[in-house]
Amino acid sequence: MTLTEIMQTLPYGPAPEAAKPALDWIKAHKGRFQLFVAGRWRAPASQEWFATINPTNGQKLAEVAQAGAADVDEAVKAARKAFVGWSQTKGHARARYLYAMARQIQKQARLFAVLETLDNGKSIRETRDIDIPLAARHFYYHAGWAQLMESELAGYAPVGVVGQIIPWNFPLLMLAWKIAPALAMGNTVVLKPAEYTPLTALLFAEICQNIGLPPGVVNIITGDGKTGAALVEHPDVDKIAFTGSTEVGRLIRQATAGSGKKLSLELGGKSPFVVFEDADLDSAVEGVVDAIWFNQGQVCCAGSRLLVQEGIAEKMCAKLRARMEKLRVGDPLDKSVDLGAIIAPAQLDKIRRLVQKGIEEGAKLWQPSWALPAEGCFYPPTLFTDVAPASTIAQEEIFGPVLAALTFRTPEEAVRLANNTRYGLAASIWSEDINLALDVATQIKAGTVWINSTNLFDAASGFGGYRESGFGREGGKEGLWEYVQKINPSGSAAVAKPKAKSRRARANVAPTALALPAIDRTAKLFIGGKQVRPDGGYSKAVYAPNGSLIGEVGLGNRKDIRNAVEAARGAFEGWRKTTAHNKAQVLYFLAENLSQRAEEFARRLGEQTGQDGRAELEAALEALFTAAAWADKYEGLVHPTPIRSVTLAIPEPIGVMGILCPDDQPLLALARLAGTALAMGNTLVVVPSPLAPLSATDFYQVLETSDIPAGTFNIVTGERDELALTLAEHDDVDAVWYAGPRAGWALVEKASAGNMKRTWTLPPSGPLPDTDEILRQATQVKNIWVPYGA
Ligand code: ADP
Repeated sequence: MTLTEIMQTLPYGPAPEAAKPALDWIKAHKGRFQLFVAGRWRAPASQEWFATINPTNGQKLAEVAQAGAADVDEAVKAARKAFVGWSQTKGHARARYLYAMARQIQKQARLFAVLETLDNGKSIRETRDIDIPLAARHFYYHAGWAQLMESELAGYAPVGVVGQIIPWNFPLLMLAWKIAPALAMGNTVVLKPAEYTPLTALLFAEICQNIGLPPGVVNIITGDGKTGAALVEHPDVDKIAFTGSTEVGRLIRQATAGSGKKLSLELGGKSPFVVFEDADLDSAVEGVVDAIWFNQGQVCCAGSRLLVQEGIAEKMCAKLRARMEKLRVGDPLDKSVDLGAIIAPAQLDKIRRLVQKGIEEGAKLWQPSWALPAEGCFYPPTLFTDVAPASTIAQEEIFGPVLAALTFRTPEEAVRLANNTRYGLAASIWSEDINLALDVATQIKAGTVWINSTNLFDAASGFGGYRESGFGREGGKEGLWEYVQKINPSGSAAVAKPKAKSRRARANVAPTALALPAIDRTAKLFIGGKQVRPDGGYSKAVYAPNGSLIGEVGLGNRKDIRNAVEAARGAFEGWRKTTAHNKAQVLYFLAENLSQRAEEFARRLGEQTGQDGRAELEAALEALFTAAAWADKYEGLVHPTPIRSVTLAIPEPIGVMGILCPDDQPLLALARLAGTALAMGNTLVVVPSPLAPLSATDFYQVLETSDIPAGTFNIVTGERDELALTLAEHDDVDAVWYAGPRAGWALVEKASAGNMKRTWTLPPSGPLPDTDEILRQATQVKNIWVPYGA
């Protein structure tokens, strides 16, 4: 035997990490853990407990409290009480606590890693080298933001009490992603770990105690979905941050609808891993290993769809099979094991079911020749080829070590396939041609795009989804906005509010049939660049504050909204790609045309509001200028992530947006909300206030005489809530901003859960939000990681 042969056939010896320190820690707690509330351990009111199991051998590790509604209430009360002091604690003091947490996690890194591996089944290699160090990094990074909040987020305050619910796939890391930014920004938290993996969160609770964190700033309550639901529904929680499945995310969206709670959701994915024929194939194969076999594929951003260019597909899959043959599945405490255990038998069943479905649907299955360990929750790395794009395994999240491979011919086809999913969490692109890679990166709808790399995470870079993968970002400066609120929107005090009484009087006016005597011309709708009659043929009277009839507008219905959405969708790609300079030019031109008609618009505002309209007209012109100014100045960031890489955080448009305008300042609201959304590259369906729609319908002429592309800016008049509901239910609408009464907030937020569209709810009157907030709401950040090195 030659030396090379010996090297190639040498078997792995066992390299076990000792479980004892973690088992001793559990023993020191007598195998039973209470709830951590107000800085103390307390038994659950129900006295109910559940077991947490080691998935590698099925043995019980410990008993954990099942928190009920009464316990949730206690925890929220403790957080509320602590909020008073914590929110006023100097940033530097909060930074010191976060720093202490990071240090403590590092000092106990070994214990954390072993405990995580025991509770979750993931390999010690990953808990030791990834989960725990990254968790510490998050606390360090956010200690910095606590220090800088006063200067860098001036004018912003914490949100209050935050309820945080996390999944089982990265237990401590998800805790860090949630708790670190929340505390840094001065919030207090009630966190519920997943029922499968509560132990590292409880060890973290001990850290909070040991460093002398003020009681109630962090509360950890264990329990299952019922506990999570109670936290979501608690009336004194100001924000919910959730990571988990899209199904539960949808339930939470519905449960919080209309409550005014701030919400961020990080949900499922079916991320594409795109390999072009000029890619470095050996690196790409290692990339696949990391993309889909990291954490047994139980990763929300797992690269579970391999899209390979046709010419290299066979070669790539052959290399992949050879590599899969060498992967090792087994005891996750063994340091040379690649894949550990699947979290639980139920998850294993789900994987098996979906794999069976893949076979039935005609895809070709390949698994390595070696056998799995005889006992425990294990599943082998699995490759499907000949996968049809619409098949279940290409569309549904499997959350296991199963890769579905498809082929493409051209970059256009790659983009189409990559975007052929309801999700949009991440993507990975492999090509030695940076032009091609960046071109494709900008076209894939995903919150994170890794070029020639995959599954890179860092506290400095935001992470979060597009589309049904959720909304909000965690990490980076962009993640901080989830945990702050503007102190006083300076708004648009330029114009005084009309009297509430007269507005209410007008609200009671019923629609009239078109046949009624025309007082003024009846404004049509503005769809696809043209004035069109409303589908139903009805119109609606508009009254002045003194009760006199001042005009009629078309009464739009579902069909009109659908037509407007279709027009906006058709215009989107073109408008998105229009250069920022040209977008600004279009907005300046709108302002120019509006100013040409200043007298007419001011008079119309006067009729609708009963006040001198000139100030509002001037403010609207200024708002269009502000929007135009931002079009080419709302910049992204380059995050200093700790690899040789530029990580580009780019604000991108959200897509087709519905905007339901407030009652006050009808022209200014239109200019500021719609103008800013347009400047960021969105296309719009705007519904003016039913009380004061005439400035918007007069605006048709401004639009017609400008060079705004047809379909970019559509206006549908009618009943606000009816049209809002149609927009919120529409699967081709990506965001809805709704200014209106509280009942409408609930309507819109609940209906938006269908495709997880972004919503922003505002009061029907009062100051308008500041432009910085509108800019953030009009965009979503994509992080593109571009590693380099010769
Ligand atoms: P996964 O199992 O894919 O991680 P889940 O969404 O089932 O995702 O679980 C994520 C977290 O959400 C867990 O902590 C779980 O207990 C919690 N959870 C489950 N159902 C609900 C619910 N209805 N409301 C709030 N939280 C829930």
